[in-house]
Amino acid sequence: MQRTAAFIISFLFLALTPIAIGSTGESRTLKFYHTHTSKTLEVTYYRNGDYVPESLENLRIFLSDWRNGHQHEIDPGVMDILWEIQRSAGNSDAFEVISAYRSPETNEFLRKNSSGVAKKSQHVLGKAIDVRLRGMDSAQLRDIALELKLGGVGYYKKSDFVHVDTGRVRRW
Ligand SMILES: [Zn+2]
Repeated sequence: MQRTAAFIISFLFLALTPIAIGSTGESRTLKFYHTHTSKTLEVTYYRNGDYVPESLENLRIFLSDWRNGHQHEIDPGVMDILWEIQRSAGNSDAFEVISAYRSPETNEFLRKNSSGVAKKSQHVLGKAIDVRLRGMDSAQLRDIALELKLGGVGYYKKSDFVHVDTGRVRRW
């Protein structure tokens, strides 16, 4: 009986070992739905201790300025913020994207036609994203983002989304 137990334990150990090794090479996957293009993307942007170049390229395309198609490198730190939010929230549903990269032309256009658009917006640097998380109240999403203290957090109650960026820690 004891031998059987020892066998089972060693079997379990062998079976669990690859998982334990795998966890040091954590992978990070995010799901997106773009509210302006209606496109979806599921992307593993981080794997085995490093960002995945092809995935960052896919994000560059997916998160381009939807008004004119201009592209810009997206700071992977923005993806890390979303990943941390997802982990804290225990919600791995899709992030609905309202805005990500914004070309200088689009930012100027928005500044002239709406309020609350900064001249030196982090969006123009590819360091910001406006999102909501499916299945979660945006006020709660904001609270989780604030707690992380990983950058700027803006809450747009009327439009129902949260802005996060990798700039300095601040809120509005
Ligand atoms: Zn924003």
